[in-house]
Amino acid sequence: MGRVLPLSRCPLYPYWPGLLLIAAMWASFAVWISWDRSVELRDATQTSATLVESLTAHTAQVVGEADRATNYVARIALAQGLDLDLQEWRRNGLLDDPAFVQVAIVDAHGILRASTVDGFRPIDVSDRDHIRVHLVPGGSASGDLYIGKPVVGRTSGKPSIQVSRAIRWRDGTLLGVAVVSMDPTYFTGLYKLLRIGRQGLVTVVGTRDFVIRARRTQAEESLGETLPPDSPLRAAIANAPRGTFRAVSRLDHIERIYSYQRIERFPLAVAVGFSTDEYLQAFRHRRNLLLVSGAFLTLLIAFAEVRRVSLWHKLVASATRERKAMEQEAENAAHLKALFRAIPDAAIAFSDGTVQDVNPRLAPLLDVENQSLSGQPPRALATALFARDMSEDQEEKIDTLVQALEPQAPQDSRRLVFTLKTPRVLVLEVRIEPLPSPYHGVVALIRDITAQTQVDRMKSEFVATAAHELRTPTAGILGLSELLAADRVPAPRKQSIYEMIRDQAKALSALVSDLLDLARIEARADKDFNMEEFDFQDVIDSAIGKLPGVRERVERDSGDESVRVRGDYSQLETVVRNLLENCMKYSAPDTPIRIRAKKAGPALRVTVEDEGIGIAQNEQDKVFDRFYRVDKHAAVAGTGLGLALVREIVQLHGGRVWLESTPGVGTRVSFSIPTQA
Ligand code: ADP
Repeated sequence: MGRVLPLSRCPLYPYWPGLLLIAAMWASFAVWISWDRSVELRDATQTSATLVESLTAHTAQVVGEADRATNYVARIALAQGLDLDLQEWRRNGLLDDPAFVQVAIVDAHGILRASTVDGFRPIDVSDRDHIRVHLVPGGSASGDLYIGKPVVGRTSGKPSIQVSRAIRWRDGTLLGVAVVSMDPTYFTGLYKLLRIGRQGLVTVVGTRDFVIRARRTQAEESLGETLPPDSPLRAAIANAPRGTFRAVSRLDHIERIYSYQRIERFPLAVAVGFSTDEYLQAFRHRRNLLLVSGAFLTLLIAFAEVRRVSLWHKLVASATRERKAMEQEAENAAHLKALFRAIPDAAIAFSDGTVQDVNPRLAPLLDVENQSLSGQPPRALATALFARDMSEDQEEKIDTLVQALEPQAPQDSRRLVFTLKTPRVLVLEVRIEPLPSPYHGVVALIRDITAQTQVDRMKSEFVATAAHELRTPTAGILGLSELLAADRVPAPRKQSIYEMIRDQAKALSALVSDLLDLARIEARADKDFNMEEFDFQDVIDSAIGKLPGVRERVERDSGDESVRVRGDYSQLETVVRNLLENCMKYSAPDTPIRIRAKKAGPALRVTVEDEGIGIAQNEQDKVFDRFYRVDKHAAVAGTGLGLALVREIVQLHGGRVWLESTPGVGTRVSFSIPTQA
């Protein structure tokens, strides 16, 4: 079994309205055509029935005329004998009917005895049917009257029909026969007036012998034939005295609508036939016209349909394209939006001079909510951005930024840097990118570059400090060695100069190694670590040993037990040394320094504490940054690297470092590292 496809898959499916219209149109045409045809046929039937009635009357009258003439002649012949001067009668207008070809009298032997034809001769006509039926006893068909079959006249050569009547004495013996020969065209004489078409038919047929007495169409005139036994007309006449039917003629094979009627007084029937083909000609014209217009309309509808469907397809295609473009656009917009939100800088989009959108990074830079900026002019943003600025040129900054953000500002990228006092110093970089034409707008990116600026500043400070730190021992070594070279130094002092040179060189080397350490550790060169297990108290001991003046001040918890750790001995010693060094640097010489190492769970905790100048709260986070030095402590020599190094080393041991300090009271730096690294 074949699979049933859904209707919508059919290639003709889109054309269904047009197809429906065409189908409806043709259906109504078909109904109209069949109705019109049936009306025409009914009309033909009625017309032929009417015609046959008048023709029947006419034929009955013509035959009746002949009948009367034979009666009259018979009566006179009985009175005056057979040899009557019929020519004389004719001349006197007695038998001068135009339908009569001849009126004659034949005696009982079949010899023509009298005739209306001039110069007739008494010939034997006993062989003629219409005479013989009377001569032969019992041969007469209907009483004494006989309407013969058409014959061709021996003298005239013209066809004629004989109406013959036996002339009998009262006792029934035959005296003779009165004969009227009639022109058969008289039966069909009305034909021309009837207008029944070229193939229309008028016929007079005998109802006993079914011999055609007269038959006429426009094309031919015939007589004498017998209706074949299967002739529909023959069957109809035999069946009923009158009627109508449609059939194909057995004689000329033309289909006709027939109406027929028998003549009551004579054994004759009259029939009229219309050729169906001819009668329906007007109908056919109308039908053909309708078919042509139908075909034309069909083409028109089909054309309109094809056009409609193609337009529809175009519309659908363009709608699809548009939808895809919109989806693509929406996707792009979503990407841009995500990008806009993801950029690490604060971003503000301006369109036509007002804020269109801002990303979440702007909020921390402002005192106001993001939303309140939407739809605002550039001045609103500038005012919000510099609201916390306490510097004198605050207004100037606002104006500069507003100017740069104006839509009519020069269409190129620009970069502005603003330094704000909030009260801490805040450095903001504002980059402005104009949108490409034809859009009127800019995108502003704001970045907090305070840290970077500070690092830059600290780096340059460090370079200066480092240069100074390096220069001092270098100059010392140089001066002392020159002194020695000049050989001006007395021998007993030489020893101390050698020692001074050695100390300076050591300081120099320490500084250089600090720098190198930091550089290496920053590069995460932890693979250089030499991991081993040792007692941390040893580390503290050796750190104290390496720092002159510490031992005198340091206080170690008497309960310090040995704490075994795994780590890089010399790096951890650097940590302790740096912390003790800071205590020495930032506290009075007569104050104590406390150091303590303790096990706390799986970790070692070390605390180094002084009673020195302390560090302000807001500086405490930053002292671990590289090169960071508290401004107020500038008088004390230092590189700002010590605590940075401490943090790096502790973190590389998997630990952490923190600081507690109160200015004027003291500072405690603690760190903890796992004992089993
Ligand atoms: P340096 O001491 O070489 O300047 P550090 O990194 O060791 O560098 O210290 C950073 C800063 O932290 C110091 O400049 C100092 O201002 C502050 N600081 C460190 N330790 C102490 C302390 N124990 N007491 C007070 N200030 C300290």
